[in-house]
Amino acid sequence: MIENYMEEIIDKMLPKVLKEYPNICTCEKCMDDIKALTLNKFMPLYVASQKGILYSKMNELEYQFKADVLNQLIQSINKVSKNPRHNMAIK
Ligand SMILES: [Zn+2]
Repeated sequence: MIENYMEEIIDKMLPKVLKEYPNICTCEKCMDDIKALTLNKFMPLYVASQKGILYSKMNELEYQFKADVLNQLIQSINKVSKNPRHNMAIK
């Protein structure tokens, strides 16, 4: 099975980042928007996945790369929480 490793990284990091933002909407739509927005900023990192391997790779990521992902996640959170799409239908 081929997976985009970036997605895995973002899935792992997002809950930690969200703890710093207790007041933002965490509905499925907003979470998907944050993920998609962040994923679009990075090249996909396709890997043939085997159970357990992806997670162990997480720890090998370069510090700078993690910082870049973190930065982008924060930007995405700010963007989505300021203009959440779940409100579009109501407006
Ligand atoms: Zn929402």
